[in-house]
Amino acid sequence: MPKIQLLDESTINKIAAGEVIERPSSVVKELVENSLDAGATEIIVKIKQAGKKQISVIDNGLGMDKDDLILCIKKHATSKIRKIEDIYSIFSYGFRGEALATIAEVSKLEIISGTRDSDVSYKLTLDAPKPNNLTPQTKYLGTTINVYNLFYNIPARQKFLKSDSYELKKIAELIKTISVANYKVRFKFYSEDKLIFDFKVCEDIKKRIKDVFNFDVFESEYKDPVVNAKVYFTNYADVKDLYQEKQIFYVNNRAIINKTMSFAVSKAFESKIPKGKKPNVFVFLDLNPKVIDVNVHPQKLEIRVKDNNTFFYPIYNALKNKLEEGLKQNLELQKTKIISLISESKTEYNSKLDLEIPQKNISQKDIKSENQKLFDVVVEEKFRFKVLGQYNKTFILVEDENESLLLIDQHVAEERYNYENFLESYSGKNYLEKQILIVPILLEFSAEDLHVLDGLKDKFLEFGLEYTILKNELVLRTTPIVLGRIPDKLELKEFFIDIINNLDVNKNKFEDLKNKILISLACKKSVKADTSLSIFEMNKIVDNLFKTKSPYTCPHGRPTIIELNKTEIYRKIGRL
Ligand code: ADP
Ligand code: MG
Repeated sequence: MPKIQLLDESTINKIAAGEVIERPSSVVKELVENSLDAGATEIIVKIKQAGKKQISVIDNGLGMDKDDLILCIKKHATSKIRKIEDIYSIFSYGFRGEALATIAEVSKLEIISGTRDSDVSYKLTLDAPKPNNLTPQTKYLGTTINVYNLFYNIPARQKFLKSDSYELKKIAELIKTISVANYKVRFKFYSEDKLIFDFKVCEDIKKRIKDVFNFDVFESEYKDPVVNAKVYFTNYADVKDLYQEKQIFYVNNRAIINKTMSFAVSKAFESKIPKGKKPNVFVFLDLNPKVIDVNVHPQKLEIRVKDNNTFFYPIYNALKNKLEEGLKQNLELQKTKIISLISESKTEYNSKLDLEIPQKNISQKDIKSENQKLFDVVVEEKFRFKVLGQYNKTFILVEDENESLLLIDQHVAEERYNYENFLESYSGKNYLEKQILIVPILLEFSAEDLHVLDGLKDKFLEFGLEYTILKNELVLRTTPIVLGRIPDKLELKEFFIDIINNLDVNKNKFEDLKNKILISLACKKSVKADTSLSIFEMNKIVDNLFKTKSPYTCPHGRPTIIELNKTEIYRKIGRL
């Protein structure tokens, strides 16, 4: 082992920086929180190249005078606490006095700030090798912080950043989350000088949630001497798709991650809404700062309390009471609905029966032998496999030529087959043929997603997806011919979101994008899990799977088949 050595200051600082500043959105978080702590009522965030090139946060808060400006970028320099006990009575977001020092360590930083009392403002320029520079500016009340070239001096960290679309989304989500808790503050967000959103000052949280997420929410409250809980939630039926699901937890207006709180929400909703459905929930807990410790996580994303019940019961009670009240009111309505559902399903059942038994005088046995005959033909041709049935409406059970038992995942099997077909079709021409939709499909997305999709227009066109971007929606005009059936809105939305959320590796490399699009399209064309299939359909899926180049893995590299060989099975049962 080499000898122990003390690390130099710069290395120590860079290592420490990694815990607080992980990516552009962490810079935005620290700067916006500082603006809020400074009492700003308007905060503007501007980014270039998803914050990798530039992040600017402009506020109209109290500002800093010349002396504070020099101090603020020093380590452990804070105006928010004086002694350790203070952190247990704190209502400000910051207190460790490390954010600006850290950001200064890993970027080129510039701060312009002025207070009410001073006649001029000052600009502090921090360009690492040069001495710090302080220049007078025209008077301005508030603070502007410009962060250029994040991680320019730590290439390894730069490499860990994901694509621009991913980092941009992270920033947008962060501002949205903070803005809900701070509805009295106006937030504007620009990317490449384009206004992405502008949340004006609101009278209450409900209105802010509506502006930010476009949900209408119910409100319920629970109070006891220790805690005050306010919960805002949507009707689960309003959650249009998975990507709209939002559950955000705030303690003393600070967004945090906490398992007990999520658990309280799911417990309260349990059996009150259909399984698998989730409402959007925003929880605000107000606790005496004395009972919590926010200093347990470098980014203050977690909070510790003595007793986790402090997190559980207020939320659970607030929701449970309100939901039960709501359920009672809906009971009569539901009763009539259930009755009509019963009569509907009855007719459906009958019609299914009609389909399955084509002629009444054919007995079950005859049908079986008919099937057997069909099968015999295949056997005579060349025995490759025999479909035995379906398990859990998700796996096809197959006996193969080696007498092994195969469990084939129906979805991934089709996905593999479709993917190879799409790839072949694309590789021939370097594009996918498109079919024009008679009625264009309108898909709603968030402003930041539309911004990203706008930039990817030409890429998607290559894959047969032509669209234009309007203010709040994407107008899809074509789909690739290979896709066959036109997916529904939800599936299309999932498809687009899936692509832009996963544009992560190595800065939008084209090969990655191509594969992701082809895989996602293949996925959309393939039969889902939990779908009953006929013997005929199962035969086709298995047959197609064995025609592919790599039948044993899905395009993501996961297995398509679980194989149990004969010896294994016989041994397990004790016959060998
Ligand atoms: P902390 O927020 O933990 O105190 P920071 O490094 O984030 O530490 O900021 C250091 C100090 O700089 C703050 O305590 C505050 O006095 C001052 N400061 C930072 N940003 C602003 C701002 N936007 N407006 C006014 N003062 C600020
Ligand atoms: Mg701070």
